[in-house]
Amino acid sequence: MNGILERLRSIVSERFVKDDVYTRHAYSRNVDPVLQGVPDYVVRPRDAREVSEVMKLANELDVPVTVRGGGDCEFGGSKPVGDGGILIDMKRMDGVINIDQDNLVATVEAGISWGKLNEQLSRLGFYTGCMGPGSGMTASVGGGISHHSVGGGGCARYGACTNGLVGLEVVLPTGEIIETGSRANKHAAAPFNRFGNGPDLAGLFCGDNGILGVKTKVSLRVYPRPPCAAYKTFVMGRKSAEAAASIFAAIRHKGIDVYDAMYIMDLVVLVGSEKGLYPLWESLKKKRGIFFYTVEANSDAELDAKVKQLDDVVLTQKCEALGQEIADGNYAKWHYVEQGGWQTYHNLWGIERGGYEPLTAECFVPASKFPAILEDLDAWDGEHVQDIETILKTCGTRPVTGSGPVLLVDGCNVELTCGFTTFNAYFNGSYHPEVAEANLRLWKSILERVTSHGAQWYMMGDITSRLMVDIGAYAPGYLAALRAVKDCLDPRHVLGRGKFNFWGVPGR
Ligand SMILES: Cc1cc2nc3c(=O)[nH]c(=O)nc-3n(C[C@H](O)[C@H](O)[C@H](O)COP(=O)(O)OP(=O)(O)OC[C@H]3O[C@@H](n4cnc5c(N)ncnc54)[C@H](O)[C@@H]3O)c2cc1C
Repeated sequence: MNGILERLRSIVSERFVKDDVYTRHAYSRNVDPVLQGVPDYVVRPRDAREVSEVMKLANELDVPVTVRGGGDCEFGGSKPVGDGGILIDMKRMDGVINIDQDNLVATVEAGISWGKLNEQLSRLGFYTGCMGPGSGMTASVGGGISHHSVGGGGCARYGACTNGLVGLEVVLPTGEIIETGSRANKHAAAPFNRFGNGPDLAGLFCGDNGILGVKTKVSLRVYPRPPCAAYKTFVMGRKSAEAAASIFAAIRHKGIDVYDAMYIMDLVVLVGSEKGLYPLWESLKKKRGIFFYTVEANSDAELDAKVKQLDDVVLTQKCEALGQEIADGNYAKWHYVEQGGWQTYHNLWGIERGGYEPLTAECFVPASKFPAILEDLDAWDGEHVQDIETILKTCGTRPVTGSGPVLLVDGCNVELTCGFTTFNAYFNGSYHPEVAEANLRLWKSILERVTSHGAQWYMMGDITSRLMVDIGAYAPGYLAALRAVKDCLDPRHVLGRGKFNFWGVPGR
């Protein structure tokens, strides 16, 4: 095809370009079992210059390009939308470039994982505050910034990982390389601040789901990790979702400092304990909702004061504290001390027989709204009995509808991970088209239902970005402005073609 293979090889060398069937199919999926798109070429560039040359070639030949970090997107974002095109794998660019200990800024290559970065920072007594997503052992910093990720720890205190962003180096879809923030001034030797020198261009690329540019370098704030921390886990009473919403609100309204605050609904505690997902809670007599918090401080006295404030709020909601040790069920301690934040969600994939997976709807909503959404999901489940029965009949396990952990994030908002469990259509050695069709129907339906509650999606990938357009959920002015930005930066829509239904402009 237009000598593209040879030209890609001349840019990144023969070793780092693949077009064999095995490699192309290995890059054709993310973690969801439903969406697939097989690229024609997989390239692994070493630096921004090589990325830039690949983008220029893609423009010249009008070939779509998809960027992939860790490939952990749950919504089909890091594989092509439809078949074909070039896939850029960023994981070769995984170095720490500089840790500016005076200004507390770390600059890294965008393909580095949150785990690797924080491992290096921890040796100096620092961390990234928000520890990225729950997939942070493998997910990349560039992927997290492209998603506004949260969930790996620290987001009640530090917000989403984009809150700590200082600056970016970005290869624009047409191949130009820019830097944002303080580095927009060519005399600034190193990134030190995000805002200034004009509008916040870094913000344009935060949460863009890989459609406006390829992030090649990321500068993040780093923070000294405080020496003292406390972690407590509570079993809740009945109506635990409402109680958790009240606790989240009280924490914010009283201005109480907290590192993480999380609610896990009763159904998940019950089913998760039965399936071995939560061994810590197997012996709990009452499988009710669970609430936990972690809090940090610079001295024991400060810590005691913060713990008292938090306990006052939590204990007014009929919560009962579990023991201090992990073996006592203290999930909060495991989450903080043993980096459970980067492990907890992994168990959701494959906890049952092969191919068991969640299809999720992950979004930000006001804390006061999430109990009503969970209640509506129960109603949604009852309305979709036919498709649910189809999955049960073929796979032998009834899908469970509900929510994973609910996390306090910025302001009075929570991250809501809801959805349903299902099985891959490749089940027990054969393909079941009826399961594939039911999965897709149910997934689109639940995404539409949650959208109707006014949810704010942060990880949109292939499915949610297009669904928002298809169901007319975008305010027209917003979508038109986004489209104008896309047309301006990427006239042929080569980057992430198809996401948000940006399919290219004919004739350009
Ligand atoms: C077990 C598990 C737990 C998870 N927990 C969480 C969680 O707690 N919170 C959360 O937010 N998400 C979570 N996720 C989803 C996902 O892992 C994260 O959103 C993560 O930040 C994605 O990073 P990645 O490097 O894997 O990105 P990818 O999946 O490779 O890419 C994500 C998107 O960003 C784009 N992209 C990637 N790198 C770049 C780049 N350098 N430049 C431009 N665009 C780029 C891609 O095109 C794609 O659209 C979880 C996933 C799994 C499997």
